[in-house]
Amino acid sequence: MRHNKHSLFTVLGLIIVITVVSVMTIQASVSYFLIKNNILAETKNHSQSTITSLKKNVANYIEAYAVNEYGNLVLHEMEYVDFYAIIVRDNNMGEVLGTDAYISGKIRDTSRQVIDYDPKNEQQNLQLEKCFYADTSAIISAAGVELGAITICSSDHSVKLELRRTIVESLINTGLISLLLIVTLFFAMHRAVLRPISGMVDRLLRRDANGIPLDKVSTQSTQEIATLAYSINKMIDAIKQSRLSLEEQNEKLQIEKGHVEHARHEAEKANKAKSDFLAAMSHELRTPLNAILGFGQMLKLNPNDPLSPKQAEYMDDIIAGGEHLLVLVNDVLDLVKIEADQIVLSVEQVCAQDIIDESIALTSPLADTSHVTIINRAAMKPKQHIRADALRMKQALINLLSNAIKYNLDNGRVIVDHQKTDDGYLHISISDTGIGIASKHYGDVFEVFHRVEADPMKAVEGTGIGLAVTKQLVEQMGGRIGFDSEEDKGSTFWIEMPLPSTLGGLVWEDSLSIGIEAIDADHKNLISFLNKLTDRMLTQDDVDVILTELIDYSLYHFRREEAVMEACGDPNLEKHRVTHQELAAEARQLAERWRDNRDPKMVHELVDFLRVWLVKHIMKDDAAIVPFAKGKEAEIERVLGDLET
Ligand code: ADP
Repeated sequence: MRHNKHSLFTVLGLIIVITVVSVMTIQASVSYFLIKNNILAETKNHSQSTITSLKKNVANYIEAYAVNEYGNLVLHEMEYVDFYAIIVRDNNMGEVLGTDAYISGKIRDTSRQVIDYDPKNEQQNLQLEKCFYADTSAIISAAGVELGAITICSSDHSVKLELRRTIVESLINTGLISLLLIVTLFFAMHRAVLRPISGMVDRLLRRDANGIPLDKVSTQSTQEIATLAYSINKMIDAIKQSRLSLEEQNEKLQIEKGHVEHARHEAEKANKAKSDFLAAMSHELRTPLNAILGFGQMLKLNPNDPLSPKQAEYMDDIIAGGEHLLVLVNDVLDLVKIEADQIVLSVEQVCAQDIIDESIALTSPLADTSHVTIINRAAMKPKQHIRADALRMKQALINLLSNAIKYNLDNGRVIVDHQKTDDGYLHISISDTGIGIASKHYGDVFEVFHRVEADPMKAVEGTGIGLAVTKQLVEQMGGRIGFDSEEDKGSTFWIEMPLPSTLGGLVWEDSLSIGIEAIDADHKNLISFLNKLTDRMLTQDDVDVILTELIDYSLYHFRREEAVMEACGDPNLEKHRVTHQELAAEARQLAERWRDNRDPKMVHELVDFLRVWLVKHIMKDDAAIVPFAKGKEAEIERVLGDLET
C-alpha cells in the first residue's frame, strides 16, 4: 500500500518536473528571440540617430580639417553611449595626405576601454567584422560634396546583459508559477485521487471476523474513482452474499449432521435394545431347550419304559432339532455379547500348535462322520507362539474347521498349516477340497446370517453366524482374518495373529476401561477402527475410507469427552482440549502423508502412532477424568443426549 503511494507521488513529481523544465525552456527561448529582435531594432535606431546627429558636426570639422575636434566628439559619444566603435572616413584629410582617405576613430579594447582605432591593426579589423551591428552613412557638406563617411558598430555586450537579466527574470517567474502549479496540482491530486483512495483503504481495512469489509466505500468522488468505488462495493456485496449462502449451507449441513448423529444415536439405541432383547431371549430359550433335550434323552434311554421304533425315530428328530436350536441360540448369544462389548478377552502368549491340536481333536468326530480327513501340517513344524485369548482362539479355529468339514465333499480333505508373515504375524490356514464359494458371494461371507443358498439336496446345517462371530473375535484379539476360494475346488480360510514380538493392533482389555460407560464405548470403537487398519487385505481405497472414518470418529469422541468433562466440572478441560487438537492435527498430518505417497509402510506408522496415542491417552489423560465423574452419571447422560440432538 505504502509502496503504491510512493510510486504515485514519484510519477506525479516526474510529470511536474518535466512540465516545468519544458515550460521554462520554451519560455526562455521565446524571450531570447523577442529580446534579441528588440535590442537589434533599438540599436539600429540609436546608431542611426547618432549618425544623423554626428554627421553635421563632423562634416564641419572635416571641412575645417579639425581632425582632433571630431576625434573628441567621437570619444565623447563613445563614452556616453555603449558603442563598440565609431570610425570616420575623412576624404579632405586624405587629399591633404595624398591618400584615398584618412581613416580614424575610436574602438573598445578587451577591457572595454575606449582607445584609438588603427586601420592597420588586423585584430581590431577582425573584431569589427564580427560586431553585432554596423551602420555606415556618407558625410555630405552643405554644398553637397561628399566629405567622407561615418560608421557606427554596436557591441553585443548590452545584448548579453539584457538577455541574462531576462533569462534570470523568466526563470524566477517560471519557478514561481511552477511552484504555484505544483502546490495546486498536489492539492488537486490529493483531493481528487489520494484522499478518496486512502478513505477507501481505511474503510476496506475495517473488517469483520471473516475478513469481509464492514462498510461500503464512498462513491462521492471524481468519475473514475467513483466507478472504482462502485465496483468495489459490488464486490463487497457479492462476497457478503456468498458468505451468507455459505453460512446458510453450513447451517443446513449442521442441522443435517445433527439429524444424522441423532439417527445414529437412535440406531445405536435400537441396536442395543435388539442386543438386550436377543441376550434375554437366548437365556430364556436355553433353559426350556435344555429341559426339552434332557427329557428327550431320558425318554429315549429309559429302559423301564422303552419307546416304540417309530417313537424312537421321532425322538431322534426332536433331539437333533433341539441340538441345532441350541447351537443357534449359543451362536446368537456370542454375537450379542460381542456386539454389547461384554466379552472380556485375556490376551496372552499362547502356543499356536496346542490350540490347533485341541481344535482338530474336537472337530474330528464331525470329520469322521462326514468322511473327511484332516491333515495337520502345523504339528510337523517347530512350535510357534502367538498373542491371543486361548479359549476364543480355539472357538475361532473350531468354527473354521467345522465349516471346512461341513462344506467339503465326501472323502474330502482339510489341511491345517501355519507360517510366519513378513510383518510379524502367524498365518494359520485351513484349506478344504469342498464346494468353494462363488466370487459373487465373497463380499457377504462374513455378514451375519449370510448363508450361500445351497443346493437343497446337499443342505448343510448352519446358522450363518459362525464366521461373523469368528471375525469379530479375531479382530478384537488384534488379529486379522480372510479367505481365498474357488467354486467347486475348495476354500482356504486363514487367521493371522500377532507374534509375541509384534505389537500389531490393540486389544480391548479390562485395563483399558476407565469406568465411564460412554467414553469406554468410544474407545472400543476407536480400537476397532485401528484394528481394521492392520488388515493385510485392505486396498488403498479401504485405507482411505477407514482413515476418514477414524478421524471423524475421533473428533466425535473428542466432542463427547469434552462435554463430559464440562458436565463434571473437570478443571483440566482446557488442557485436554489442546491435547485433542494436537492429536487431531497429528493424525490428519499422517493421513495426509499417506494420501501423498500411499506407501504401505505409512499405514504401519499410522497404526503405531494411533496405538501409542490411544493407550497413553486413555491410561493417562482420560483416567484423570474419573474422579470428577463420580456421582455425575445423570449429568453425563444428559449432556451426551443434548450433544446428539
Ligand atoms: P454357517 O452356520 O452357515 O456355517 P458361517 O457363518 O460359518 O455360517 O458361514 C457362512 C457361510 O459361508 C456358510 O453358510 C457357507 O455358505 C459359507 N462358507 C463358510 N465356510 C465355507 C467353506 N469352507 N467352504 C464353502 N463355503 C463356506
